[in-house]
Amino acid sequence: MNIDLHCHSNVSDGALPPAEVARRAARSGVEVWALTDHDQLAGLEQARAAARDAGMRFIDGVEISVTWRGSTIHVVGLRIDPADAVLAGGLARVRGGRIERARRMAQELKDAGIDGAFDGALRHAENPAMVSRTHFARYLAEIGAVDEMKDAFRRYLVPGKPGYVPHQWAVLADAVGWIRGAGGEAVLAHPGRYGLSAAVMDALLAEFRAAGGEAIEVVTGSHSPEQYRHFGALAMHQGFAASRGSDFHGPQEGAEFGTLPPLDPALRPVWRDWAL
Ligand code: AMP
Ligand code: MN
Ligand code: MN
Ligand code: MN
Repeated sequence: MNIDLHCHSNVSDGALPPAEVARRAARSGVEVWALTDHDQLAGLEQARAAARDAGMRFIDGVEISVTWRGSTIHVVGLRIDPADAVLAGGLARVRGGRIERARRMAQELKDAGIDGAFDGALRHAENPAMVSRTHFARYLAEIGAVDEMKDAFRRYLVPGKPGYVPHQWAVLADAVGWIRGAGGEAVLAHPGRYGLSAAVMDALLAEFRAAGGEAIEVVTGSHSPEQYRHFGALAMHQGFAASRGSDFHGPQEGAEFGTLPPLDPALRPVWRDWAL
């Protein structure tokens, strides 16, 4: 079965509205699909309706931004109850402060010679309260300051470069707790992106497990085939389930639906006990 449990709509930093993302996933052959916008549940209703029309099984999801030991970590929640008040309240606090952060990012970029980044990024953000680095990257590519969006995350917008403003996201145990409290499963998103040493990754996984986390994203758009093997082995040895998701953000922006390999059959998929 073609299962994709991680992607974004323009409710957060994706380029397309939830219903269009649903239709695109279905056209690419996805059969079980989760929308996992950053720190927001507002796209789920539209996504669910469009998924039903397209004949896909829909999973309510979210991707929560966490600050752990000074690093930004993402935790995907799957099969959450979108009506859960504690989850909704937690997410509202996490996503607050993005506008102020964006102003500071724009000021840093201005000091580096790039004008107009605040208004420019907001033009790309359907929902101003969710303005993110992705919207700045789109603006930097649009004005030719970088050739491609991914260069914006090399030359700008990352720690040590202009346009990076540290931010305090959710506490790991809180994020996992909100997901579990809303009836969902917590998945550590794209662990290969964090640049953590093996010892620090072990510490992260231990804390994640203690908080109630149960799966690791193994096959995802930002992992290499070598990382599929590495994190697959880690999941197996440490008794975590494994997940798969493109992390689709938009056409020509990273991974596309339906292009990633399936999970290694030796792994325990996070969906094993779901009634699909
Ligand atoms: P923010 O939540 O505002 O810090 O923005 C984070 C988003 O930026 C992530 O969800 C990704 O969509 C995007 N992003 C971060 N790093 C990269 C990268 N190296 N290449 C492409 N997109 C990235
Ligand atoms: Mn994103
Ligand atoms: Mn992420
Ligand atoms: Mn994502």
